[in-house]
Amino acid sequence: MTGALLTVPGGENPALLDEAHRLAEELTTSDGESPSVVAVAFDGVVDPESAAVGTPDELVHVVRENGSETFAAGAAGVRTRAAALAQVAEDPRAILLPDTADGADLAALTARRLRGGCVTDCLLRVRDGDLLAGRQVYGGRAYAELSFERGPSVVTLNTEALGTPDEPPADSPDERTVEVSVADDDRVRHLETFDVPEDDLAKARRIVAGGQGLGNPDGFSLIEDLADAFGAAVGSSRPPADDGWVPYDRQIGVTGKEIDVELYVPSAISGDSYHMRSVNAEYLVPINTDPDARIFTFADIGIVGDVYEYAPALAEAIREATDSQGAEETTDGDEAEEVAE
Ligand SMILES: Cc1cc2nc3c(=O)[nH]c(=O)nc-3n(C[C@H](O)[C@H](O)[C@H](O)COP(=O)(O)OP(=O)(O)OC[C@H]3O[C@@H](n4cnc5c(N)ncnc54)[C@H](O)[C@@H]3O)c2cc1C
Repeated sequence: MTGALLTVPGGENPALLDEAHRLAEELTTSDGESPSVVAVAFDGVVDPESAAVGTPDELVHVVRENGSETFAAGAAGVRTRAAALAQVAEDPRAILLPDTADGADLAALTARRLRGGCVTDCLLRVRDGDLLAGRQVYGGRAYAELSFERGPSVVTLNTEALGTPDEPPADSPDERTVEVSVADDDRVRHLETFDVPEDDLAKARRIVAGGQGLGNPDGFSLIEDLADAFGAAVGSSRPPADDGWVPYDRQIGVTGKEIDVELYVPSAISGDSYHMRSVNAEYLVPINTDPDARIFTFADIGIVGDVYEYAPALAEAIREATDSQGAEETTDGDEAEEVAE
């Protein structure tokens, strides 16, 4: 497989193979040599037939020694599959995986074993005979192109961006079975998957968020109440999520959600750049005891004071204002009806 383009489909994935064929064509040298396109199917994880949809030049079915056991899908089996992939790879030009959680794990571990370069969630292009990986950076505000210092280039491809090939070629590939001797990974003792509650912060129009300055998880009841008064969603900085005060899907920042809102009320949040880089807000109204806190440099207006005092006061003021506005509208409505009569 020297110089080959290896694909490791997680299932039926003609887009990955279609892209490998496109790259192979672009990498064809002036004397007509092009890298072969190989699909790797791990026994027990992907059915070889579905791995062959899109027709690789060769289909390699990887089985464990003596057929004793199969490979495991997901996090429990990723180290074993990375070890097996490194054994069968034989100096490939590139390894292409789908950009899924499993694909990214497998890419990182395989690149480490093969001492290659790894880029996730990217698209590949060929320039002057070299592979370049392009991906969005800074939350989509810029596009970076990365070259590889040494091979193989191990990447996860955004197959949604590649689209579905019109007509996957339907020839039969050469097939072979390779037996590998790899140990099970005994570092994973217990694996559990669970759904994270998700009312997506990325889509919210107003957010009230709490930070480490709340001092304890109970402080989030104030944040929830203020959010309720504003008709807003609840967010947090990273420390409350790390400490388990709120679920991770509440975290705003470069390692959490990026937000784009009309109103943001960061409460007891200092305004660190890891947090603020992912905040786009028309109006930013912080509550913080420290008048020199960085968060005030982003503020339209702000409250210098204790969140435990000002959040309930603000929630009450908003509710009173909303109630009296509602009452005025009702009165105006009555008057309008009277005039109509
Ligand atoms: C690689 C990396 C990635 C990171 N990713 C993220 C990320 O995605 N999101 C993120 O948020 N952080 C992230 N961080 C952490 C970041 O650097 C900061 O540590 C974090 O944002 C600080 O959170 P905070 O503002 O809640 O806490 P602090 O910085 O401790 O600020 C607490 C604030 O509360 C105020 N305060 C205290 N008591 C009160 C009170 N009673 N009333 C009102 N105000 C009060 C204080 O004056 C202070 O300004 C990352 C860090 C690293 C290294």
